[in-house]
Amino acid sequence: MAIALVTGASRGIGRATALQLAVEGYTVAVNYHHNIKAATDVIAQITDAGGKAFAVRADISDETQVLAMFDSIDREGEPLAALVNNAGILCEQSTIENLSAERINRVLATNVTGYFLCCREAVKRMSFKHHGKGGAIVNVSSAASRLGAPGEYVDYAASKGAVDSLTTGLALEVAAYGIRVNGVRPGLIYTDIHASGGEPGRVDRVKSALPMQRGGQPEEVAQAIVWLLSEKASYVTGSFIELAGGK
Ligand code: NAP
Repeated sequence: MAIALVTGASRGIGRATALQLAVEGYTVAVNYHHNIKAATDVIAQITDAGGKAFAVRADISDETQVLAMFDSIDREGEPLAALVNNAGILCEQSTIENLSAERINRVLATNVTGYFLCCREAVKRMSFKHHGKGGAIVNVSSAASRLGAPGEYVDYAASKGAVDSLTTGLALEVAAYGIRVNGVRPGLIYTDIHASGGEPGRVDRVKSALPMQRGGQPEEVAQAIVWLLSEKASYVTGSFIELAGGK
């Protein structure tokens, strides 16, 4: 057995990914920030179906908490084989005139620093250089990194641009050490994240502008993540899968 850590696994895309990884046979480390009830529900769903999972609370933007999370994963006694860097935030829709330094730094702390910290700790455990057994990392970016999210959250889009650079650079850095690093770029997916931007119904408002004329489901993103982590993608690194309905 091997462990897959999914950050932000209590809800949305992370939740769907955790459920599918458990079916694939991973022991799933279900990271969450505040919502212990949602995390507990995910674990119950996995264990009821005969899988293995445990909860790890940590704010990924806080280095001390990230270190404690990886320590608790180490104590499970199984190797860490997969990391899904998924936990991400966006703030209220706004043009640049109203973006404060505090808000920009908050978005970058979770969406960029948090991803870096989790990658760093995963590499220390997976890399052949550190006597690890290898592994795979998927960074959940966004189509916003290409499209820029004008008038809504350019700060968020920029954070996802940084995630894409992290994916490219780290993939090259660790390719010879048994670790594959890839990215997914979802578009409009039905999750709670749009409510934190101030518009819970955003997907339905803008879906007609998409070539496929519909929003996506978290499970559709999860399937791509699970494939990238699997042996079926054994020669794939530094790659990105667009999950944006054609946009
Ligand atoms: P969501 O439904 O809002 O869920 C966010 C998850 O992240 C929750 O599990 C939350 O935990 C966790 N989280 C938030 N901040 C955290 C922190 N500092 N430390 C640890 N966990 C934290 O979001 P989602 O839509 O599934 O988004 C998942 C990823 O997909 C994000 O990176 C997002 O940018 C990306 N994405 C989403 C869409 C979309 O349309 N939904 C499109 C493109 C990209 P709690 O439950 O404890 O709060």
